[in-house]
Amino acid sequence: MKLTVKIVAGLVLGILVGVVFNLFAPGAFGPVDQYVLGPIGQIFLNLIKMLVVPIVFFSIVVGTAGISDPKKLGRMGGKTVGFFLVTTTIAISIAMALAYLIKPGVEGSFSGQSDFKAEEAPPVMDTILNIIPTNPVQALTEGNMLQIIAFAIFIGFALAVLGDKTKALRDLMEQGNDVMMYLVKIIMETAPYGAFALIASAVGGQGKEALQSMGMYFVVVLAALFIHALVTYSSAIYLLGKENPLKFYKAFSPAMAVAFSTSSSSGTLPVSMKTAQENLKIPKQISSFVQPLGATINMDGTAIMQGVATVFIAQITGVDLTFTQLIIVVVTATLASIGTAGVPGVGLIMLAMVLKQVGLPVEPIGLILAVDRLLDMTRTAVNITGDAACALYVTKSEEKRNEAAPSTAGDFKG
Ligand code: ASP
Repeated sequence: MKLTVKIVAGLVLGILVGVVFNLFAPGAFGPVDQYVLGPIGQIFLNLIKMLVVPIVFFSIVVGTAGISDPKKLGRMGGKTVGFFLVTTTIAISIAMALAYLIKPGVEGSFSGQSDFKAEEAPPVMDTILNIIPTNPVQALTEGNMLQIIAFAIFIGFALAVLGDKTKALRDLMEQGNDVMMYLVKIIMETAPYGAFALIASAVGGQGKEALQSMGMYFVVVLAALFIHALVTYSSAIYLLGKENPLKFYKAFSPAMAVAFSTSSSSGTLPVSMKTAQENLKIPKQISSFVQPLGATINMDGTAIMQGVATVFIAQITGVDLTFTQLIIVVVTATLASIGTAGVPGVGLIMLAMVLKQVGLPVEPIGLILAVDRLLDMTRTAVNITGDAACALYVTKSEEKRNEAAPSTAGDFKG
């Protein structure tokens, strides 16, 4: 817990330093950011990102190899994806309801002037079809998460079936996993400094004017994120995970702080897995299956931003969305959040896809861009919390099953 306190202290100090620069020395911010804050933050980011591909690969191979029963893998997959879809749908519904209630965009108007150019969002169907890598080595070098997950599941499955014949390789994978987890522990010691530099850099670079003009949008997204975490996740943690939500949040807070400072679910993955396994006592097997998958496809925070942003843009451009269009927003925002990569800012690019589906202009994304950095940090913390809540749910429901049928209980040593 000491480390969490240090990270939070780093965050608070970073915000203070950023605000001071912003208010009193905006001119000095550039060089300080370029030569001090930026590089320190980047070193920390690179250190944890360095571990993402090997950790996902080793841990999923080891996790899958431990599940000798393919039915169990299917069952866990079903529960995981079911949880992801339900919570994401609830997330967008909360976001849109709140945006309709508070009407952040009614006061404003949009002149149609903005230098935002919509990038082509990757088609969701392609993402789904590409899950099986035709070249696994390429998937590993490019860090294509879904492909790495699929390949690792195949290898793990084969290791489970081949048993003693491939014991050496399985041991090697287990040791690889141990080495990566050890490195996470060491790198986390530098997290307070990394968090400080990343936050100071983000806050210091934030234009005051942008925050003022986009204030209402900002507040609605933040409120929806908090409501989702406090109501949806807490209920899931309490009812499905049989755990005290406060205890859960306290135990998982180091990972949330790192997600907040890095704005990247994928980048935070090594830390969120280690935190879930050690502090929340999630079996390795479940954590290494649910969390990498979640960091790639489960983004409730991102869906919330997209829901609020769509309603906001409809309001500032004076478009009344029909009920059918609202349903389309829910469906496409769910797909868009699945297709969003867990790296900073991608949620905004995927927003273009949602807007296009309901015929809204994409140019107002330029307005949102100005305040997106801070929202990105917050939604990333929500994104990874949803994955951990899901891992807890899968753990509890598998435990219950094992109690009913003790013969498979041995699966859970992790
Ligand atoms: N930064 C987010 C994440 O990594 C994705 C996004 O919404 O842009 O979870």
